[in-house]
Amino acid sequence: MVGFQFQNIAAYHQQLLAGTTSCAAAVDHYLHAIAQHRHLNAMVAVFEEEARARAAELDAALQDGQSLLPLHGVVVSIKDVLCYEGHPVSAASSMLKGYHALYNATAVERLLLAGAIIIGTTNCDEFAMGSTNEHSAYGPVHNAADTGRVPGGSSGGAAVAVQAGLCMASLGSDTGGSVRQPADYCGVTGLKPGYGRISRWGLIAYASSFDCVGILAHSVTDVALIYNQLAGPDGKDSTADTTMPAKVYLQAAEEAPTYRLAYLAPTLDTEGLDPEIKTAIEQTLAQLQARGHQVAAVPFPLLEYIVPAYYILTTAEASSNLGRYDGIRYGHQAPGHPDDLTAFYRRNRSEGFGKEVQRRIMLGSFVLSAGYYDAYFTKAQQVRQLIVDATAQIFKEFDAIVMPVSPHVAPRLGEATADPIAMYMADIFTVFANLAGVPAMAIPLFKHSSSMPFGLQVLTNRGEEVLLHQLSAYLERQFARH
Ligand code: GLN
Repeated sequence: MVGFQFQNIAAYHQQLLAGTTSCAAAVDHYLHAIAQHRHLNAMVAVFEEEARARAAELDAALQDGQSLLPLHGVVVSIKDVLCYEGHPVSAASSMLKGYHALYNATAVERLLLAGAIIIGTTNCDEFAMGSTNEHSAYGPVHNAADTGRVPGGSSGGAAVAVQAGLCMASLGSDTGGSVRQPADYCGVTGLKPGYGRISRWGLIAYASSFDCVGILAHSVTDVALIYNQLAGPDGKDSTADTTMPAKVYLQAAEEAPTYRLAYLAPTLDTEGLDPEIKTAIEQTLAQLQARGHQVAAVPFPLLEYIVPAYYILTTAEASSNLGRYDGIRYGHQAPGHPDDLTAFYRRNRSEGFGKEVQRRIMLGSFVLSAGYYDAYFTKAQQVRQLIVDATAQIFKEFDAIVMPVSPHVAPRLGEATADPIAMYMADIFTVFANLAGVPAMAIPLFKHSSSMPFGLQVLTNRGEEVLLHQLSAYLERQFARH
C-alpha cells in the first residue's frame, strides 16, 4: 500500500524510485483535494480519467525499469489560456466557451514530454486582464487563506491550486504581474521568466510584447526544475529567445556569494504602500547588508510613468489581438439574423466579452486612433525604451533589484474592482519587469498582521535566470518563516 504526501518534486521522485509512493497515488490525492475544495472555484476543468491513465502509464514505465523522466509524474495544472490539444480552453471568457484547443502550446508540449501529468485547467481573469480574478466568466476565485479575499490575478486559480494543494505546480501567464501578484497574495512562489525565454506558441495572446508563460510552485527549487524543461528556443515563436538558456542549478547554502542588490528609492515611498510591507522589505534589506551583501538605493524618476505606459501599450496590443474574436473567425456568435455586418460584430462582441475586456479594447482603440497615436502610443513606446535603458544601466552595477510585489495584501472580494484606475495603479511593482523584459521572482517570505501572506520580488538582468533562482533560493533559505 503506497501513500502520498508532497514536500517537493525531488523528494517525490525519491519516493517513486523507492516504491513508497506512485504517480497513481499522487493523482488520487490531488483529485480528492480538488473535490474537497470546489468552493474555492480555482479549477475550470479537471481531466480525471486522463490523469489516472497517464499516471498508470508512468508507473508502469518505472516498473519496466525505464529511468525517471525530468518531471516524471509531476501533477500540474495549466491556466485556461494555454492550449492543450483536444481540451477546452476559453481564457475564462464567454467568447470562447466550448472551444477546444487544436494543438498543444509549446509549454504544454514540453511539460508532457518531460513526464508531467496535467490534471486540469485553472480559472483566471478574462483574457488575463485583471488583478483579482473577479473578471472571469466562471465567477471569482477565493483565496484559500481567507475565502472572503481575492487570490489576485489574473492567474488566481493557478495560485490557489498550488496554495490549497490541488496540484504540485501550475503554469500561468504574466503580462504585467499575473503570476507574481497572485503568488504573493496566496503565499506561493511565482516566476516570470525573461521575455522570450518560454515560447508563447499556444498561449492565448493579451499583449504580445509583454506576455510570458510563468510558473507557480511551492519552492524556488520546484520552479527551477520546471523552468529547465520549458525554456529554450522554439521555431514556432519568432520572438522566443534563440539562444539556449543556461540550465538553472542551485548552490549549496555555504556557497552563496556576496550579492550586489539595488532597490529603487521611490518604490518604498509609493503612496498606498502598506507600512508593514515597507517595514518587512526595509528590515530584510538591512539584514542582507548586515550579512555582508552590498545594498544600495538607486534613484528611479521614471517610476510614476510605468503604470500609464504599461496600460497604454497593453491595451493597444490587446485591441489588436482581440480583433479576431468577431463571432465569424472565432468566438461567440449571437443568435438570430443581424441586419448588417457591423451590427452582427457588435452583438457578438458585446455578448461575448465582459466589461473589463471591453474597457481595454476601447482604451486600446483610442490610443491607436489616428488623432491620438503619437500623443499616447508613440509616447508610451518612448517611455518604455527609457525604462529599458535605465534598467540596463542599473544592472551594470548590481546583480539584482529587490522590491515589493504588491503595495498591499489580498483585498476583500469586491473591494478592488470598484475603481479600475486604483486597481491599475496597484500593479506598479509588477509591470516594471514586463516593460523591461527582465526575469522576476515573487518569493513568499512574510505574514501580515491580517494573517495574509506576502513576499518580496527579485529582478535580474535579461538572460540571468540562473542568478535569479540562486538569489531567490538564498532568500528563501534565509528569511522564509516556515
Ligand atoms: N493586472 C495586470 C493587467 O490587468 C496584469 C495582467 C497580467 O499579467 N496578465 O493587465
